[in-house]
Amino acid sequence: MTEALPLRPELVGELPYGAPQLDVPVALNTNENPYPPSEATVADMAAAVADAARSLNRYPDRDALNLRTDLAAYLSTDGGAELGVDQVWAANGSNEIMLQLLMAFGGPDRTAVSFAPTYSMYPEYARDTHTRWVVGRRRDDFGIDLPHALDVIAEHRPSVVLLASPNNPTGTALGLADVEAILAAAPGVVVVDEAYGEFRRAGVPSAVSLLPAHPRLVVTRTMSKAFALAGGRLGYLAASSAVVDAVRIVRLPYHLSSVTQAVARVALAHAGEMLAAVDELRAERDRTQEWLVGLGLHAAPSDANFVLFGVFGDRHRVWQGLLDRGVLIRETGPDGWLRVSIGTPTEMASFRTALTAILTEVPA
Ligand code: PMP
Repeated sequence: MTEALPLRPELVGELPYGAPQLDVPVALNTNENPYPPSEATVADMAAAVADAARSLNRYPDRDALNLRTDLAAYLSTDGGAELGVDQVWAANGSNEIMLQLLMAFGGPDRTAVSFAPTYSMYPEYARDTHTRWVVGRRRDDFGIDLPHALDVIAEHRPSVVLLASPNNPTGTALGLADVEAILAAAPGVVVVDEAYGEFRRAGVPSAVSLLPAHPRLVVTRTMSKAFALAGGRLGYLAASSAVVDAVRIVRLPYHLSSVTQAVARVALAHAGEMLAAVDELRAERDRTQEWLVGLGLHAAPSDANFVLFGVFGDRHRVWQGLLDRGVLIRETGPDGWLRVSIGTPTEMASFRTALTAILTEVPA
């Protein structure tokens, strides 16, 4: 006999979030970086882990000061702002960073706002922190509809606004003028989620450059994508030191293991090598997008390491057809659209071959 558990009613019937982890020849479904770390980096990581292992009887540095110093130095080159260690915070993936932000700034009787289509985890952070969730819409080209965004903010007075830039699943980056207009209107914190920031096209700025002038702005980043460290679980934020102090109140003690800190520092020390692959992926993304458009499909202009394309009458058939040919992509986004992560040239060739075969069977 099973007795009912006292599960929170809003969790009853909910499923854990996550794309299928299938064993397929070509996995282009979770926006990972297809290039693993080089053997030289792997050797340095192994040495750093061995070093950390020698003191695993002790708790890690609770404040991850060395790692945060390295992250601040990295952001001064990629983001364009000189930040102190007290303006950077790190956690297990930017997912944990977001949850910490909602724990600190959301909560009962408070509202978080975002604009769809956008990252599907945002409503879950809100649900898990008892924060009211309000979602506005993006324009048909997936950009932020600024007048509408300002109306939603004026009506709901959110304590947190979440803006992904480049946005997942559309790849759309946000102009800094829009971020500044939202900052001026929003009464609370404005989070610009730059998980895919390093993949932005030349000339597209990072919101990190706005930080010195905006104490309620938070920019989140991750090492899961550009740094090819999805398995290492390291996300971080840059903001005013007041935001970092607030997040430190809700973090669990010793949340970031010594092993994670050591591995992330090695990856940062090898930033040149890790980021060289980013340029290749950006070029492959642009080629993929042009190819899709050449087929007569729509492909949303992307500043990320994926492309949203469509529009299919029956997108599931296309997705399934690709999977049947060993290529796993993501069935996500607005009706009729599919998202493909950018892989190696060989993986993208498999994707093109499979999609071409399907489109001769299933016209778009
Ligand atoms: N933000 C966005 C927009 C994402 O797409 C993802 C991962 N798919 C994340 C945050 C979280 O990434 P991680 O926890 O690996 O840093």
